Amino acid sequence: MGGVEGFSNEEGATVLASALEQIADSVMITDTEGVIKYVNDSFELLTGYSRHEVLGLKPSVVQSGRHSGAFYRRLWGNLHAGRPFRGVFINRRKDGSHYHESKTITPIRDRSGVITHFVATGRDVSDRVGLEERLRNLAYTDSLTGLPNRARFLDLLHKEMDGLEASGSQLAVLFIDLDGFKVVNDSHGHQVGDRLLVDVARRLRDTLRSPDLVARMGGDEFAVLLRGRRSVDAVDIICRKIIAALEPPFDMARASTYISASIGIARAPADGGDPVTLIKHADTAMYRAKGRGGAYQFFETEMTRAAADEFNMRNDIRRAEAASEFFLHYQPQVSLRSGAIRSVEALLRWHHPVYGVIAPGAFIPLLEETGLIRPVGLWIFGEACAQLRSWQSAGVDIPMVSINVSPTQLEDPSLGAQLAEVVARHGLEPGSVEIELVETARLAETDRVESTLRTLEAAGVRLALDDFGTGFSALTHLHRFPVHTVKIDKDFVRYMHGEGEDTRLIESIVGVARTHSLDVVAEGVETVEQWTSLQALGCGYAQGHHICRPSAPATLAAFARGCRKAPAGRPGDPERLKGGHACRASSA
Ligand code: C2E
Ligand code: MG
Ligand code: MG
Repeated sequence: MGGVEGFSNEEGATVLASALEQIADSVMITDTEGVIKYVNDSFELLTGYSRHEVLGLKPSVVQSGRHSGAFYRRLWGNLHAGRPFRGVFINRRKDGSHYHESKTITPIRDRSGVITHFVATGRDVSDRVGLEERLRNLAYTDSLTGLPNRARFLDLLHKEMDGLEASGSQLAVLFIDLDGFKVVNDSHGHQVGDRLLVDVARRLRDTLRSPDLVARMGGDEFAVLLRGRRSVDAVDIICRKIIAALEPPFDMARASTYISASIGIARAPADGGDPVTLIKHADTAMYRAKGRGGAYQFFETEMTRAAADEFNMRNDIRRAEAASEFFLHYQPQVSLRSGAIRSVEALLRWHHPVYGVIAPGAFIPLLEETGLIRPVGLWIFGEACAQLRSWQSAGVDIPMVSINVSPTQLEDPSLGAQLAEVVARHGLEPGSVEIELVETARLAETDRVESTLRTLEAAGVRLALDDFGTGFSALTHLHRFPVHTVKIDKDFVRYMHGEGEDTRLIESIVGVARTHSLDVVAEGVETVEQWTSLQALGCGYAQGHHICRPSAPATLAAFARGCRKAPAGRPGDPERLKGGHACRASSA
């Protein structure tokens, strides 16, 4: 051994020997065969072995057997190449307990550069590793149910899918969403909601057995990983089992509750090559199942397109108002006696840049869901009032405009005042604007709705109940709200035959309307037979393709002039309409 700088030869050797002896790190020296030649005090303390027990043995005395062959191959590869090896070893003490040791093994060379020994220094890092493990568990476990959480599920799915191709195996992911959980949570409180989730987790765990895995993805969403080769039939059986397991009532605070689930299934590798796609597809299938009223649904490729379309539409509609893609068509309501125009109904259209003109049934739910119905509704109102004003200024004989308003809009307490202001701003006669209340059955029995309607009444705006007869509570609205008009739903008109039930119904609506001095407008009049039957029943007004399709303002002006030019001084000729001389304007 050469001299150590700062020490005399002898002094250096003594200091180094004492340093090795007393250093807090454990030290072990072996020869190139791995035979232990030296261990220090810290080694004895750490392992529980005394010096004389291990000298002459190999380091395998402390091996735990918890490292892979690859770990040792890497170790020896380094050492034989003359490079140090660093790593955390899981070792075993004399008493059998395990510890984690952060270790560096360094080859020692003689003067000629030949490796003669290896020195391993290490320190016990069990505390740190234990803490890391606990933190990882915490980060990987759902604290409420004790199930693996989303991160853990994704992690395991990743590992599982990695080996999938090589093994030629398959797996399935079930995405489970509870039906109506929000109602339970909102009406019984979070504590009850939490208990329900814990119970659901327990039932799921009891239903599935290893190697399948249940995780809570968040909220009322759970996911299941089915490992190994699983046929569609096998997955089918598991879904049925899960549904059956959730069937018995859940015991809650004071009463028992029922809860069901919707399950979406995606299989790998067929339905997705990576965990994120697979989960997304299972989620899409779950929504499809929910849309059908529950139970379970396997993923089909066609669903992604539908989901993507829906997603795009949602984005598109946000831009539609700014891009002026909305426009209105108008459809006249005419007197069954004189043929004169009573009003024109404004009907919303969306000119989509890709799909062309779309009817409101397809996008009004989106407007409501996104809250856009409020600004768009206000725009419709302003546009329709401006149009009426413009016709009137041009001498076109259109006395009234009818505008549809959805229940969501009525919930807005400022709506009444806003609409009244628009009517006044356009200098329209009060009474030349009629609001059509759609989906009267959905009208909440709230004071807010009633006060909006009262504000409108005070401003002189008229009120019509649209699609009358379809909502079972329609009749009660006649008494509660300041109604001027009822519109008979087009289904009654379509199925009206001779003395049939629908004919009787129309007759009684006309009777009730008469006693309340209300206008009655029949919708969806498509044939001359319907026209004459409605006349005979004493119905006042009609709207429908037989008379005029929803059309652009200019077409409406032409239609109105045609009505005025009716022969024999009659304002509009019912006989002409009877003969089917309806305005055949282009419909959207
Ligand atoms: P609605 O208020 O009952 O409007 C009458 C619907 O019947 C219109 O459908 C119209 O095009 C259609 N129609 C007219 N004549 C005939 C006919 O002879 N036969 C048949 N089969 N149908 C006929 P559209 O334009 O697709 O509107 C559907 C619904 O969308 C409307 O029903 C209304 O509830 C809603 N809607 C339309 N525009 C608006 C709006 O500006 N705001 C709101 N909130 N809802 C609107
Ligand atoms: Mg309407
Ligand atoms: Mg209607």
